[in-house]
Amino acid sequence: MPTMSQLDLTPYGGVEPDEVWAEEVRRLARERDAVLLAHNYQIPAIQDIADHTGDSLALSRIAAASDASTIVFCGVHFMAETAKILAPEKTVLIPDARAGCSLADSITAAELRAWKAEHPGAVVVSYVNTTADVKAETDICCTSSNAVDVVASIPADKEVLFCPDQFLGAHVKRKTGRENLHIWAGECHVHAGINGAELAERAAAHPDSDLFIHPECGCATSALYLAGEGAVPAERVKILSTGDMVTAARDTSATSVLVATEVGMLHQLRKAAPEIDFRAVNDRASCRFMKMITPAALLRALREGADEVHVAPDVAAKARASVRRMIEIGKPGGGE
Ligand code: SF4
Repeated sequence: MPTMSQLDLTPYGGVEPDEVWAEEVRRLARERDAVLLAHNYQIPAIQDIADHTGDSLALSRIAAASDASTIVFCGVHFMAETAKILAPEKTVLIPDARAGCSLADSITAAELRAWKAEHPGAVVVSYVNTTADVKAETDICCTSSNAVDVVASIPADKEVLFCPDQFLGAHVKRKTGRENLHIWAGECHVHAGINGAELAERAAAHPDSDLFIHPECGCATSALYLAGEGAVPAERVKILSTGDMVTAARDTSATSVLVATEVGMLHQLRKAAPEIDFRAVNDRASCRFMKMITPAALLRALREGADEVHVAPDVAAKARASVRRMIEIGKPGGGE
């Protein structure tokens, strides 16, 4: 298997997202009996053509509940895998299977097995940004919204292995005060664009702005951690799931909002509350993998039925159990 840095990651190109394209996408989707799902970090043209937008868990639930026989998942690979895990009888397509995730890639199933062997009897908690193989080695998955509740539900005398996001792990450790929580040193490359100094500086420069943090994708878990450290005034910080963020945008009295997350999220917020000045904490916080789902890639997926996502049935069954446990505990978030 080539590593991410060895792969050619040049996106499919040469297609403008104009009305002719949109018509063709809609026609082909009807022909394939396909529902189009787009993650919030997709480019605006993909978000606008989709039947549903949301975060990965919300979209996976929609995939499972949909009547359509084919799911076209415009997002990164682990998300399409999660949809396949929850909807194994459906055909799941991702417009470009090379769209990986640096956070999900920071731990493999073999590495997790080796870590488990060092801590026999430990309970494994994995963030949803993991591959199906890693989820299959996991006891309970979590989102950033219910990570603290998931860990708190585990008997205090049990060791916990938390992977792969080190910032979410540090946040959970601080909140639970748990000494027997071990944290894997994984991270998302986008978070580097949302550092503490920049967050504090932007908050000071815009003293009347609210600060929205949407950490569901891993790109902003560093902001979640920094907010807890007191890097920005607590009363202005709102940590929100996608659905709550759009509701908060409609309800806030602030006229400007700083948004600490991947820049794609701004599109949905501006649509929800056009009168508010939404600004990214860092304009460079953009996920190149998400942006590989281009208009050309979507057209190719619908024309060729590619790339199809497969998860081995035994792996899917084990992974489904850890995802289901996640959904049962606390408030996993995932609202559209
Ligand atoms: S923003 Fe980060 S965590 Fe989200 S898909 Fe991209 S690399 Fe993965």
